Amino acid sequence: MGLRTEWVLRWIDATSRALEDNKPLLTELDSVIGDGDHGENLARGFAAVDQKLSSLIVETPRQALRTTGVILLASVGGAAGPLYGTAFLRAAKAIPKDALELGPQDVAMMLVKAAEGIAERGGCQPGDKTMLDAWYPAATNAAAAVAKGAGAAEVLQIAAKAALSGADGTLSMSAAKGRASLLGERSIGHKDPGAISTAMILSAAATSAVG
Ligand code: ADP
Ligand code: MG
Ligand code: MG
Repeated sequence: MGLRTEWVLRWIDATSRALEDNKPLLTELDSVIGDGDHGENLARGFAAVDQKLSSLIVETPRQALRTTGVILLASVGGAAGPLYGTAFLRAAKAIPKDALELGPQDVAMMLVKAAEGIAERGGCQPGDKTMLDAWYPAATNAAAAVAKGAGAAEVLQIAAKAALSGADGTLSMSAAKGRASLLGERSIGHKDPGAISTAMILSAAATSAVG
């Protein structure tokens, strides 16, 4: 069975709760190699999205994802707002306009296009110690899982797992983009906050797809 609009709504709601719960952790990570606002920025942004979505009648997954991107662009400042906003707008665009249910291929394309959008908007590559280091393996592993016949929920689980190990992998990287790049090699030994928040967002996508 495919994933419907309600899945996107559950996903955003679960993300909003996860980011609120993990605000101290994200603040701590961003305090070490950034300016300490990542947790606050994101929790506020996704709460705004959650509120907006519950005030609208959203008919398709594409519409829900597009609204998410628009609100993130409008309400989250700093580096992460435009990057996450772009990711959700590109994910929306990856889905056929009137589709009511998303299959494994749609889900993988959402992640591939989101990762491409972040790479473009951020001017970053895998290995630069950014959120792309979570999005990129998520997208790549999702596409590989589709090729092996995985269902939509399974594709999301595989993507979430890849995002988490990608985020953990930023520990040993030297930051080449964003605020953390000011520290250069001194950023080694600390995880990238955006990669960790991406792992949380994609984990919420996966858990919202089952049960
Ligand atoms: P700011 O650094 O403006 O305070 P945030 O704290 O909200 O923004 O977000 C920081 C995160 O944004 C970083 O941990 C990193 O994952 C991501 N980021 C920053 N610059 C870039 C970039 N050029 N490309 C991709 N991701 C980036
Ligand atoms: Mg910051
Ligand atoms: Mg900032």
